Amino acid sequence: MRTIGAMMAGGLSIGLGLASAVPAAAQRARQVHYDLSFPDAAHHRAQIVATFRGVPAGPLRVQMARSSPGRYALHEFAKNVFAVTARDGAGRPLPLLRNDPYGWSVAGHDGTVVVSYTVFGNRGDGTYAQIDTRHAHLNPPATLMWATGFDAAPVRVRIVSPDSGWTIATQLPAVAGQPNTFAAPDLQYLMDSPIEIARQDVREWPVGEGKQRYTIRLAVHHDGSAADVDRLATQVKQLIPQHRKLFGEWPRFDHGSYTFLADYTPQISGDGMEHRNSTVVSTPTPLDGTNAGQLGTISHEFFHAWNVERLRPRELEPFDFTRANATPSLWFAEGVTNYYGPLMLRRAGLTDVDGWAKATAGALNTVLFSPARRNGGPQEMSLRAPFADAATSIDPVAPDVFLSYYPYGQVVALALDLSIRQRFPARSLDDVMRYLWQTYGRTERPYTPDDLRRGVATVTGDAAFADAFFAASVSGSALPDFAPLLAQAGLVLRAAAPQHGWIGAGGVVAAPAGVMLAAAPLPGSPLDAAGLDAGDRIVAVNGVAVTDPAGWSGALERLTPGATVTIRFVRQGGEQQRSVRALADPRLGIVRVEATGGTLSGKQRAFRAKWIDG
Ligand SMILES: [Zn+2]
Repeated sequence: MRTIGAMMAGGLSIGLGLASAVPAAAQRARQVHYDLSFPDAAHHRAQIVATFRGVPAGPLRVQMARSSPGRYALHEFAKNVFAVTARDGAGRPLPLLRNDPYGWSVAGHDGTVVVSYTVFGNRGDGTYAQIDTRHAHLNPPATLMWATGFDAAPVRVRIVSPDSGWTIATQLPAVAGQPNTFAAPDLQYLMDSPIEIARQDVREWPVGEGKQRYTIRLAVHHDGSAADVDRLATQVKQLIPQHRKLFGEWPRFDHGSYTFLADYTPQISGDGMEHRNSTVVSTPTPLDGTNAGQLGTISHEFFHAWNVERLRPRELEPFDFTRANATPSLWFAEGVTNYYGPLMLRRAGLTDVDGWAKATAGALNTVLFSPARRNGGPQEMSLRAPFADAATSIDPVAPDVFLSYYPYGQVVALALDLSIRQRFPARSLDDVMRYLWQTYGRTERPYTPDDLRRGVATVTGDAAFADAFFAASVSGSALPDFAPLLAQAGLVLRAAAPQHGWIGAGGVVAAPAGVMLAAAPLPGSPLDAAGLDAGDRIVAVNGVAVTDPAGWSGALERLTPGATVTIRFVRQGGEQQRSVRALADPRLGIVRVEATGGTLSGKQRAFRAKWIDG
C-alpha cells in the first residue's frame, strides 16, 4: 500500500524506470513497462501505455487475454480495447496488423515497441475492470496488453492516480524510489495481481511465529465509518488463525504480506477472487456490524491461499491466457473450499451451529435435487466450468446439464469428512488437507486427480475405502445417505417443512398479466409431470389471477400436501390449463437433536466439538 502524493504534472512519461540507470547490454534484455492513467474515469476508460524493450527482430505480437486465472470461461478482454496505436523507441509511428480478434502484430520496430490504447471497464469484481470517479478496480487480464515471448520478462507498472487522496492496494511490491510504481517478476505474476486505486481504509496486523512472520493487510473501499472497518478487522483477526490451524502453518507469502482488496461500494458486483498473496472480495452491500455478507467470502478466499494458490491442480499449470483452462478437480479446488469456508467461520465462533446447519442444508438440497447430477459427477461438472462460470452464450442451456461444483464439491467434502470420521475415528478430512498441503501445497508440486485419491488412501491407511469413495462419488455421481453420517454429531436430517405442499416450481420472473417460469420444473415433480416448462406464463392458480411473483409465491406457500392445484398458463400465445396434486415438500433441513426434543449423547457432543466447534 502506498499513499499517493501530488498528481503527476503533464502527460505520460514513457519508459521511466530502468532506462537511465541500467547499462546498454541489460537494456537489450526483455522488459515491460506499463503506464496507467485515467483521464476519462467518468466514462469508465483507462489510458494504457505498454512499452516492450529488448524486442527481437521480426514482428511483435501483442494481445489481450481471453481468460483470467480463477475464472473458467472465456471473457475476451480484447472486446473493450480500442484506439490502439504503436510507436518505436524513437517515437516513430508503427503500423499495426490485425490477424485475429485478440491481438495485433507490430513490425518494423527498433527493438522497442510502445503500444498505447484505451480500455473500457465497468464491472467491478474479481474478473473485470471498473474505472469510475470513485475507483479504478483493475484485474490485469482485463486491463493489460501483453506480448508473445515476454512471459519471463520483468514488469513495472506505474500508476497516475486520478486523486491525491486515493491509495493503491496490490500484492505487487512497490519499487523503491519510484513513486506509484510496482514490480512483477513475470507475466504470470503480473496477471495474478489485481490493483485497487481508491480512497481506502487500511488495517494491518502481524501474524506468524519464528521464520513465518507476515503482515495481513485489510484494504477496504467502502462508504461506512472507520469503526465499521475496525469491527471487520477484529472479525478477520478472529477468523484466519483457524485456517492456519487446519493446515498447520501459514503459506509462504511472497514479500511478507497478504492483502484483502475489499470493496463494499454500491457499484461493485458480488464476487471473490483468490490470488497468491491477495484476494479481491467485493460485496455491494455495506458493512453492517455482523458483516455476514462479507465474512463468508473472506473465509472462502483466504482458504484459497492454501487450496488453489499453492495446492494446485496440474491442469492449471501454467495458466494459458489464450484459452479456457479446465481441470477435473474444481470440485476439490472450489467445492472443498466451499466446505471449509463456513466451517472456519463456525470454528472461529463467528457463526452458530444452527446458522452453519442451515447453510449446509441449502447446499445439500441444491445437490440432492439437482436434475443434472444424473448426467455427471463432480469431475465431469468441473470440466463443464468453461460453459458455466460467467460464460455468456445467449442460447438456453438444458437445466439438467450443470450442477455447480461449488455446492457439489462442498457436499462431497461433507460426505468424505463424515465418512472418514465414521470409519477412522482418529482421522478426518482435516488430516487429508494437511497431508495434501505438506505433499503438494508447501512444495507447490501440482496434484493430479489421482493424487487426491491417493492422499485419502494414505491418511486413512485404507486404499479400498479411498478407491470406493472416489469411484462412487468423485468420478461417479452417487452420494451416501447423509442421515447416519450427520447423526454422529447429533444432527438430524429431515424434511424441513413436510406440512407444506410442493409442486416443484423453480424461479419465476414478472411477465405481463402473470409470471413466467424462469426455469424448468424439477424433473419428477408434479409440475414436470404435467408438462410445464421454462417460458410458460402462469396467469392463474385455482381460478385466482396471479399478477406478480409475490402473488405466485403466496399461492405456493398456501399449498398443503395432497391439495389439487389448477394452473392456467399461456404458452406460445395459447392458453392452457393443467391440474396437479401437491406433494409434501421433500426439501431437507439439518437440526440439532436437542432442538427436536431428543437428547445429545456424550459421544455425539464429543464428535460435534471435534468437528464443528474447532
Ligand atoms: Zn473459490
